[in-house]
Amino acid sequence: MEQRWIYLNGEIVKKEDAKISVFDHGFLYGDGIFEGIRVYNGVIYKCKEHIDRLYDSAKSIMLDIGMTKEEMTEAMAETIRKNGMRDAYIRLVVSRGTGDLGLDPRKCPKPSTIIIVEKLALFPKEHYETGIRIITVPTRRNVPDALNPKIKSLNYLNNILVKLEANMAGVSEALMLNAQGYVCEGSGDNIFIIKNKVIYTPPSYLGALEGITRNAIIDIAERLGYKLKEEPFTRHDVYTADEVFLTGTAAEVIAVYEVDGRVVGDGRPGPVTNELLEEFRREVDKDGLQVF
Ligand code: PMP
Repeated sequence: MEQRWIYLNGEIVKKEDAKISVFDHGFLYGDGIFEGIRVYNGVIYKCKEHIDRLYDSAKSIMLDIGMTKEEMTEAMAETIRKNGMRDAYIRLVVSRGTGDLGLDPRKCPKPSTIIIVEKLALFPKEHYETGIRIITVPTRRNVPDALNPKIKSLNYLNNILVKLEANMAGVSEALMLNAQGYVCEGSGDNIFIIKNKVIYTPPSYLGALEGITRNAIIDIAERLGYKLKEEPFTRHDVYTADEVFLTGTAAEVIAVYEVDGRVVGDGRPGPVTNELLEEFRREVDKDGLQVF
Protein backbone atom coordinates (compact mmCIF):
# COMPACT_ATOMS: atom_id res chain seq x y z
CA MET A 1 0.00 0.00 0.00
CA GLU A 2 1.36 3.37 -1.03
CA GLN A 3 2.18 5.77 1.81
CA ARG A 4 -0.45 8.49 2.16
CA TRP A 5 0.11 11.83 3.82
CA ILE A 6 -2.53 13.85 5.61
CA TYR A 7 -2.46 17.50 6.58
CA LEU A 8 -3.42 17.81 10.24
CA ASN A 9 -3.36 21.13 12.06
CA GLY A 10 -0.29 22.58 10.40
CA GLU A 11 1.68 19.38 9.87
CA ILE A 12 1.75 16.74 7.18
CA VAL A 13 1.70 13.35 8.88
CA LYS A 14 1.44 9.71 7.85
CA LYS A 15 -2.11 8.49 7.38
CA GLU A 16 -1.83 6.13 10.35
CA ASP A 17 -0.73 9.04 12.57
CA ALA A 18 -3.58 11.35 11.53
CA LYS A 19 -5.76 11.19 14.64
CA ILE A 20 -8.39 13.50 16.09
CA SER A 21 -9.77 13.68 19.64
CA VAL A 22 -13.07 11.95 20.45
CA PHE A 23 -14.00 15.30 22.03
CA ASP A 24 -13.74 17.06 18.68
CA HIS A 25 -17.07 18.78 18.04
CA GLY A 26 -16.87 17.80 14.38
CA PHE A 27 -17.24 14.21 15.60
CA LEU A 28 -19.61 14.86 18.51
CA TYR A 29 -21.97 17.29 16.76
CA GLY A 30 -21.09 17.63 13.09
CA ASP A 31 -19.93 21.11 14.06
CA GLY A 32 -17.69 22.07 11.18
CA ILE A 33 -17.49 22.56 7.45
CA PHE A 34 -15.87 20.87 4.49
CA GLU A 35 -15.13 20.91 0.80
CA GLY A 36 -14.72 18.14 -1.79
CA ILE A 37 -12.31 19.22 -4.50
CA ARG A 38 -10.75 17.59 -7.57
CA VAL A 39 -7.23 17.71 -8.91
CA TYR A 40 -6.99 17.12 -12.63
CA ASN A 41 -3.55 16.67 -14.16
CA GLY A 42 -1.89 18.63 -11.35
CA VAL A 43 -4.45 21.46 -11.35
CA ILE A 44 -6.81 22.10 -8.41
CA TYR A 45 -10.03 22.66 -10.31
CA LYS A 46 -11.79 25.93 -9.36
CA CYS A 47 -9.50 26.25 -6.35
CA LYS A 48 -10.51 29.81 -5.55
CA GLU A 49 -14.23 29.00 -5.73
CA HIS A 50 -13.86 26.08 -3.29
CA ILE A 51 -11.75 28.11 -0.86
CA ASP A 52 -14.22 30.99 -1.05
CA ARG A 53 -17.16 28.64 -0.35
CA LEU A 54 -15.28 27.11 2.60
CA TYR A 55 -14.69 30.53 4.13
CA ASP A 56 -18.31 31.56 3.48
CA SER A 57 -19.48 28.42 5.29
CA ALA A 58 -17.09 29.24 8.15
CA LYS A 59 -18.36 32.79 8.39
CA SER A 60 -21.95 31.65 8.48
CA ILE A 61 -21.33 29.30 11.42
CA MET A 62 -18.95 31.79 13.11
CA LEU A 63 -15.99 29.45 12.88
CA ASP A 64 -12.62 31.20 12.86
CA ILE A 65 -10.43 29.01 10.68
CA GLY A 66 -7.33 30.79 11.95
CA MET A 67 -5.58 30.64 8.57
CA THR A 68 -5.75 32.98 5.61
CA LYS A 69 -7.19 31.72 2.34
CA GLU A 70 -3.66 31.86 0.90
CA GLU A 71 -2.31 29.72 3.74
CA MET A 72 -5.14 27.21 3.28
CA THR A 73 -4.51 27.05 -0.46
CA GLU A 74 -0.79 26.51 0.10
CA ALA A 75 -1.50 23.77 2.69
CA MET A 76 -3.67 22.00 0.14
CA ALA A 77 -1.09 22.36 -2.65
CA GLU A 78 1.67 21.08 -0.37
CA THR A 79 -0.37 18.04 0.69
CA ILE A 80 -1.09 17.16 -2.94
CA ARG A 81 2.59 17.47 -3.85
CA LYS A 82 3.64 15.38 -0.84
CA ASN A 83 1.27 12.62 -1.98
CA GLY A 84 2.58 12.94 -5.54
CA MET A 85 -0.91 12.62 -7.01
CA ARG A 86 -1.69 14.56 -10.19
CA ASP A 87 -5.27 13.28 -10.26
CA ALA A 88 -7.06 13.12 -6.96
CA TYR A 89 -10.03 13.96 -4.80
CA ILE A 90 -9.34 16.26 -1.88
CA ARG A 91 -11.37 16.43 1.29
CA LEU A 92 -10.77 19.62 3.21
CA VAL A 93 -12.36 19.64 6.67
CA VAL A 94 -12.37 22.31 9.36
CA SER A 95 -14.17 21.40 12.56
CA ARG A 96 -14.88 23.51 15.63
CA GLY A 97 -12.13 21.54 17.38
CA THR A 98 -11.80 19.86 20.73
CA GLY A 99 -14.14 20.93 23.51
CA ASP A 100 -16.11 19.33 26.31
CA LEU A 101 -19.34 17.34 26.04
CA GLY A 102 -21.49 20.45 26.00
CA LEU A 103 -22.61 22.10 22.78
CA ASP A 104 -20.99 25.42 23.52
CA PRO A 105 -18.48 26.28 20.78
CA ARG A 106 -16.76 28.75 23.12
CA LYS A 107 -15.28 25.67 24.83
CA CYS A 108 -13.44 24.80 21.60
CA PRO A 109 -10.47 27.16 21.49
CA LYS A 110 -8.86 25.88 18.29
CA PRO A 111 -10.37 24.44 15.09
CA SER A 112 -9.14 21.14 13.68
CA THR A 113 -8.05 21.33 10.04
CA ILE A 114 -7.59 18.23 7.94
CA ILE A 115 -6.69 17.76 4.29
CA ILE A 116 -7.02 14.28 2.81
CA VAL A 117 -5.86 13.49 -0.72
CA GLU A 118 -7.31 10.31 -2.16
CA LYS A 119 -7.83 8.45 -5.39
CA LEU A 120 -11.38 9.00 -6.48
CA ALA A 121 -13.96 6.24 -6.48
CA LEU A 122 -15.93 7.46 -9.46
CA PHE A 123 -19.29 6.25 -10.63
CA PRO A 124 -18.52 3.18 -12.74
CA LYS A 125 -17.59 4.15 -16.32
CA GLU A 126 -20.66 2.40 -17.72
CA HIS A 127 -22.89 4.79 -15.77
CA TYR A 128 -21.65 7.59 -18.01
CA GLU A 129 -22.54 5.51 -21.06
CA THR A 130 -26.00 4.43 -19.88
CA GLY A 131 -26.94 7.13 -17.35
CA ILE A 132 -28.39 6.32 -13.93
CA ARG A 133 -31.82 5.65 -12.42
CA ILE A 134 -33.02 7.83 -9.58
CA ILE A 135 -36.08 8.07 -7.37
CA THR A 136 -37.68 10.89 -5.43
CA VAL A 137 -37.23 10.21 -1.73
CA PRO A 138 -39.62 11.04 1.12
CA THR A 139 -36.98 13.03 3.04
CA ARG A 140 -37.10 16.71 2.17
CA ARG A 141 -34.15 19.08 2.00
CA ASN A 142 -33.34 20.97 5.21
CA VAL A 143 -35.15 24.30 5.21
CA PRO A 144 -32.82 27.29 4.81
CA ASP A 145 -34.05 28.95 8.00
CA ALA A 146 -33.04 25.89 10.06
CA LEU A 147 -29.73 24.65 8.60
CA ASN A 148 -29.09 26.47 5.35
CA PRO A 149 -28.04 24.03 2.60
CA LYS A 150 -25.68 26.70 1.27
CA ILE A 151 -23.49 25.97 4.30
CA LYS A 152 -21.39 22.95 3.41
CA SER A 153 -21.46 21.75 6.98
CA LEU A 154 -20.26 18.47 8.45
CA ASN A 155 -23.87 17.85 9.47
CA TYR A 156 -24.81 15.67 6.48
CA LEU A 157 -27.54 13.58 8.09
CA ASN A 158 -30.17 15.09 5.81
CA ASN A 159 -28.21 13.80 2.83
CA ILE A 160 -27.41 10.48 4.49
CA LEU A 161 -31.10 9.79 5.13
CA VAL A 162 -31.65 10.39 1.43
CA LYS A 163 -28.81 8.05 0.56
CA LEU A 164 -30.32 5.34 2.79
CA GLU A 165 -33.64 5.71 0.99
CA ALA A 166 -31.88 5.52 -2.37
CA ASN A 167 -30.00 2.41 -1.24
CA MET A 168 -33.24 0.74 -0.15
CA ALA A 169 -34.71 1.44 -3.56
CA GLY A 170 -31.63 0.00 -5.27
CA VAL A 171 -30.57 3.24 -6.98
CA SER A 172 -27.32 5.14 -6.64
CA GLU A 173 -28.72 8.66 -6.37
CA ALA A 174 -31.99 10.27 -5.39
CA LEU A 175 -33.95 13.42 -5.86
CA MET A 176 -34.76 15.61 -2.87
CA LEU A 177 -37.63 18.06 -2.94
CA ASN A 178 -37.67 21.15 -0.77
CA ALA A 179 -40.31 21.69 1.90
CA GLN A 180 -42.66 23.26 -0.67
CA GLY A 181 -42.35 20.28 -3.00
CA TYR A 182 -40.12 21.90 -5.61
CA VAL A 183 -37.25 19.91 -7.08
CA CYS A 184 -34.12 20.74 -5.08
CA GLU A 185 -31.07 18.51 -5.59
CA GLY A 186 -29.63 15.04 -5.14
CA SER A 187 -27.98 13.67 -2.00
CA GLY A 188 -24.66 15.00 -3.25
CA ASP A 189 -25.35 16.60 -6.63
CA ASN A 190 -27.27 19.41 -8.25
CA ILE A 191 -29.90 18.74 -10.91
CA PHE A 192 -30.56 20.10 -14.40
CA ILE A 193 -33.34 19.31 -16.85
CA ILE A 194 -33.62 20.13 -20.53
CA LYS A 195 -36.85 20.71 -22.39
CA ASN A 196 -37.06 21.91 -25.99
CA LYS A 197 -33.36 22.87 -25.92
CA VAL A 198 -33.81 25.12 -22.85
CA ILE A 199 -31.81 24.13 -19.78
CA TYR A 200 -33.35 24.56 -16.32
CA THR A 201 -31.84 24.27 -12.85
CA PRO A 202 -33.45 25.20 -9.53
CA PRO A 203 -32.45 28.64 -8.21
CA SER A 204 -30.31 28.29 -5.12
CA TYR A 205 -32.87 30.15 -2.97
CA LEU A 206 -35.01 26.99 -3.14
CA GLY A 207 -32.48 25.48 -0.76
CA ALA A 208 -29.75 23.53 -2.50
CA LEU A 209 -26.00 23.70 -2.15
CA GLU A 210 -24.66 26.17 -4.68
CA GLY A 211 -22.51 23.61 -6.46
CA ILE A 212 -19.28 24.67 -8.07
CA THR A 213 -19.85 22.18 -10.88
CA ARG A 214 -23.38 23.57 -11.24
CA ASN A 215 -22.01 27.07 -11.70
CA ALA A 216 -19.38 25.82 -14.14
CA ILE A 217 -22.07 24.08 -16.21
CA ILE A 218 -24.20 27.23 -16.23
CA ASP A 219 -21.19 29.15 -17.61
CA ILE A 220 -20.42 26.46 -20.20
CA ALA A 221 -24.05 26.19 -21.33
CA GLU A 222 -24.31 29.94 -21.78
CA ARG A 223 -21.00 30.03 -23.64
CA LEU A 224 -22.24 27.31 -25.97
CA GLY A 225 -25.28 29.47 -26.70
CA TYR A 226 -27.93 27.52 -24.78
CA LYS A 227 -30.78 29.30 -23.12
CA LEU A 228 -30.55 28.59 -19.40
CA LYS A 229 -33.12 29.42 -16.77
CA GLU A 230 -32.72 29.24 -13.01
CA GLU A 231 -36.34 28.77 -12.04
CA PRO A 232 -38.41 26.50 -9.80
CA PHE A 233 -39.81 23.29 -11.30
CA THR A 234 -41.63 20.21 -10.10
CA ARG A 235 -41.39 16.43 -10.49
CA HIS A 236 -43.77 16.64 -13.45
CA ASP A 237 -41.20 18.77 -15.28
CA VAL A 238 -38.50 16.21 -14.53
CA TYR A 239 -40.70 13.32 -15.75
CA THR A 240 -41.48 15.10 -19.01
CA ALA A 241 -38.01 16.54 -19.68
CA ASP A 242 -36.05 15.58 -22.79
CA GLU A 243 -32.88 15.16 -20.72
CA VAL A 244 -32.00 15.12 -17.02
CA PHE A 245 -28.52 15.23 -15.54
CA LEU A 246 -26.78 15.70 -12.20
CA THR A 247 -23.62 17.65 -11.47
CA GLY A 248 -21.07 17.46 -8.69
CA THR A 249 -17.36 17.38 -7.99
CA ALA A 250 -17.31 13.58 -7.81
CA ALA A 251 -19.93 12.84 -10.48
CA GLU A 252 -18.97 15.68 -12.87
CA VAL A 253 -21.96 15.52 -15.24
CA ILE A 254 -24.01 12.33 -15.19
CA ALA A 255 -27.13 11.62 -17.19
CA VAL A 256 -30.31 10.28 -15.60
CA TYR A 257 -32.28 7.87 -17.75
CA GLU A 258 -35.16 7.05 -15.41
CA VAL A 259 -36.90 8.99 -12.62
CA ASP A 260 -39.53 7.28 -10.42
CA GLY A 261 -40.12 4.69 -13.14
CA ARG A 262 -40.57 7.29 -15.91
CA VAL A 263 -38.08 6.92 -18.74
CA VAL A 264 -36.36 10.21 -19.57
CA GLY A 265 -36.31 11.06 -23.30
CA ASP A 266 -35.30 7.97 -25.21
CA GLY A 267 -33.73 6.35 -22.14
CA ARG A 268 -30.13 7.22 -22.93
CA PRO A 269 -27.80 10.14 -22.14
CA GLY A 270 -28.98 12.93 -24.44
CA PRO A 271 -26.93 15.07 -26.84
CA VAL A 272 -26.91 18.24 -24.72
CA THR A 273 -25.82 16.33 -21.60
CA ASN A 274 -23.03 14.67 -23.58
CA GLU A 275 -21.91 17.97 -25.08
CA LEU A 276 -21.79 19.65 -21.67
CA LEU A 277 -19.83 16.76 -20.14
CA GLU A 278 -17.36 16.82 -23.01
CA GLU A 279 -16.86 20.57 -22.74
CA PHE A 280 -16.55 20.33 -18.95
CA ARG A 281 -13.85 17.66 -19.22
CA ARG A 282 -12.01 19.66 -21.86
CA GLU A 283 -11.41 22.52 -19.47
CA VAL A 284 -10.98 20.94 -16.02
CA ASP A 285 -7.19 21.01 -16.08
CA LYS A 286 -7.11 24.59 -17.36
CA ASP A 287 -9.34 26.30 -14.81
CA GLY A 288 -7.68 26.28 -11.43
CA LEU A 289 -4.41 26.35 -9.54
CA GLN A 290 -1.42 24.45 -10.93
CA VAL A 291 0.37 22.63 -8.11
CA PHE A 292 2.98 20.60 -10.00
N1 PMP B 1 -25.35 19.25 -3.48
C1 PMP B 1 -24.86 18.61 -2.40
C2 PMP B 1 -25.77 18.32 -1.27
C3 PMP B 1 -23.52 18.19 -2.37
O1 PMP B 1 -23.03 17.55 -1.31
C4 PMP B 1 -22.69 18.44 -3.49
C5 PMP B 1 -21.27 17.96 -3.49
N2 PMP B 1 -20.41 18.84 -2.85
C6 PMP B 1 -23.24 19.13 -4.58
C7 PMP B 1 -24.57 19.52 -4.53
C8 PMP B 1 -22.41 19.48 -5.76
O2 PMP B 1 -21.53 20.54 -5.44
P1 PMP B 1 -20.12 20.68 -6.13
O3 PMP B 1 -20.37 20.78 -7.60
O4 PMP B 1 -19.55 21.94 -5.56
O5 PMP B 1 -19.35 19.47 -5.80
